[in-house]
Parts: sequence; C-alpha cells; structure tokens
Amino acid sequence: MFNIVIFGKPGSGKGTQANFLKEKYNLYHISTGDLFRKNISNQTKLGIEAKSYLDNGDLVPDSVTIKMLENEVLSNKELNGYIFDGFPRTLNQAESLDDFLSSINLKINATIALDVNEDELITRLLDRGKTTNRSDDQDIEKIKNRFNEYNTKTSILINFYNKQDKFFSVDGKGSVENITSRLFGLVDSLI
Ligand code: ADP
Repeated sequence: MFNIVIFGKPGSGKGTQANFLKEKYNLYHISTGDLFRKNISNQTKLGIEAKSYLDNGDLVPDSVTIKMLENEVLSNKELNGYIFDGFPRTLNQAESLDDFLSSINLKINATIALDVNEDELITRLLDRGKTTNRSDDQDIEKIKNRFNEYNTKTSILINFYNKQDKFFSVDGKGSVENITSRLFGLVDSLI
C-alpha cells in the first residue's frame, strides 16, 4: 500500500491533483471537505453539526472529523492505498491518523505539499466561488480566516512530517498538467 497526504493551503489544488493521483496509482481518495459537504447537503446529523464551521471557514472540531475519517477508511479497503485530502489539519489529527493507521497495519508513506502563495490563492478561490455555490469561496474574510486556520493550526504539520522524513513539496503554480507531472515524477521516485 502507498498512502499519501496531499497537503497545502485552501485553493492550492489538492482536490484537482488528488483526482489524477488516484487514477494513476489506483488509490482511494478521501476528501474531508467533500465528505462534510455531502453530509450537509443530505442533512445528516454530522452535516448539521459541521455546517456552521464550514460556512465560517473554521475547522470542524477534531472529535467529529477524526471519527468521520476513520469510518471512511474502514469502509473502503480494496485499493492500493489512500490519498488523504484535507486531512490531517491539526497536530491532534496527524497523531490520531498515525495511531489509527498503525492499528490496521498501515502508515503514511509521503506527505506532498502544493506550494502556492496567498495572493494567487485568493484569486483562485474567488474565481471558484463564481462557479460553485461554496459560500466560503465567495467572501474574502472567510478566505482569510481559512488561511489563518491553516497558518495557526495546520502549518506545524510540515515539521511533524519532516521529522519522520516524509515531507515533500512541489511548486503548485503553473498549468494543471505541469503540476500533475511534477507530482507523478515525485511519487514515482518514492514508490
Ligand atoms: P479548502 O482546502 O479549499 O479549504 P476543503 O474542502 O478541504 O477546502 O475544506 C472546506 C472546509 O471543510 C474547511 O474550511 C473546514 O471547515 C472543513 N474541513 C475540511 N477538512 C477538515 C479537517 N481535517 N478538520 C477540520 N475541518 C475540516
């Protein structure tokens, strides 16, 4: 199994690139943002609990997020590995993920960050907000709050995975195809 965390700020292209990675390496793609949005539109208990956090661009509490993630892993076990997109986003989530994976004899093989500066990300997110109904992409204050959540709670994970020699970064600027080939090149060198 080869398990990847795709890492980066909001709008860095994690979801887009995860779709290419999952096809090429036969991985199961888990996007916590997509899972929350699905639960919100189906008005499940979890969705009702998560909605206000997503609307404001705040992180959903770990207790909710970690359980949702573990259930998703346990219900999809057939492929060559997982690609975690949007998880972990806190140190607690990263430690829980290591413990949980080791309890089922798995581990994270690589964490790959897409590196893009915030000015470019704001342009991309506001653009995305025009064509989707994501309210968190339509308001500059909500976007800035998401960057703030990343900078205060998520960016420390760079150090967490660096210490395990699992952190890699690729330039996330340029055409989608160019970024995909950078990622494939990196993953091929790690497998
Ligand atoms: P983006 O990366 O563009 O912010 P996502 O779809 O990954 O978009 O996440 C959207 C929202 O879902 C986040 O702002 C947050 O409210 C919630 N969310 C997603 N993943 C997590 C997580 N691991 N922990 C807490 N909240 C999360």
